[in-house]
Amino acid sequence: MNRREPLGIAVIGAGRMGADHVRRIDRTIGGARVAAVADVDADRAEAVAADIEGCTAHTDPAAAMTAPGVDAVLVASPGPAHEATLLAAFEHDLPVLCEKPLTPDAASALRVMEAEQALGHRRVQVGFMRRYDAEYVRLKALLDSGQLGRPLMLHNRHRNVASPAFFTSAMLITDSVAHEVDATRWLLGHEIRAVTVLRPAASAGAPEGLRDPQFVVLETDGGALSDVEIFVNCGFGYQVQAEAVCERGTARIGDGHALVTHTAGRWGGTIAQDWSERFAQAYDDEVRAWVDGIRRGEVTGPSTWDGYAAAAVCEAGVRALEGGGRVEVDLVDKPDLYR
Ligand code: NAD
Repeated sequence: MNRREPLGIAVIGAGRMGADHVRRIDRTIGGARVAAVADVDADRAEAVAADIEGCTAHTDPAAAMTAPGVDAVLVASPGPAHEATLLAAFEHDLPVLCEKPLTPDAASALRVMEAEQALGHRRVQVGFMRRYDAEYVRLKALLDSGQLGRPLMLHNRHRNVASPAFFTSAMLITDSVAHEVDATRWLLGHEIRAVTVLRPAASAGAPEGLRDPQFVVLETDGGALSDVEIFVNCGFGYQVQAEAVCERGTARIGDGHALVTHTAGRWGGTIAQDWSERFAQAYDDEVRAWVDGIRRGEVTGPSTWDGYAAAAVCEAGVRALEGGGRVEVDLVDKPDLYR
């Protein structure tokens, strides 16, 4: 790649997230351009590519990766399609930003990790964008400073207005709590060793048969507990909150108090309605950091190891949800590439 030229990106998957990333690369991120778009739905690929000068549309992800001017790949297809796309990107030794989940289960994540190790260098950044959210970044810096002492507990709340029609009870863990799994590992610097899922009465506001809400308890190898209330049909807004309880104090983020009004005998504010609004800054900074890193010749951010660990914890979480009880997480030894 000529470093004075913008980085050419092939975006794989032109659905909600993919189209948002295309817009972000085209209008918000400097130093990059969308060179190709691939979607199994040809109309969708063409509609997204049509707005961008010089961008080609494809139905085959591998063809998009070899299109003229492609230097890197952003994967925003559904999780089950990620493994094949990542392995194809490795064949061309292209850097990849892969939306979470890396893959839907630990075995496929391990295969991806082995293929990346065979290349001998990191190629993947996983799209755990909370690591780029300004509030999470401040919380991490405070915990790392040691000012509050050791973190002992993390209380997380993750609420959505309504779940999509295809959402299953297991997806509350694999699609939603996956973010808290990564945030817990990253904030505390611990691995998660066991998962318990408690199931309160399902909300009448949830679709028939969906176990919503759920209460998940993550035990870490550093002796901390991280609990997650996941409630994907709360009806009133999108909320992601985290409170760290440390030896000498607590720290809390996600209250959404950016603007508080006082009028007519009442006070209040607004609640974001979805993730694209709440985490807009995080997505921008995530993609910007990925692009800047590649232009410097580096791949940074959440790694394939992080994607694998999250997949293994979520798999244990689904077993805990289905069978009840506490399920231990079995991780392979961390390869040197990710140390
Ligand atoms: P979506 O269903 O809106 O879009 C997926 C698109 O991929 C569709 O257009 C579909 O036709 C296409 N597709 C399916 N299989 C494909 C394949 N093999 N190759 C190329 N294209 C294929 O889904 P979405 O909500 O945009 O989610 C996409 C990814 O982004 C998922 O991995 C999801 O978990 C992730 N996501 C992450 C966040 C976040 O907060 N980081 C938020 C939403 C979605």
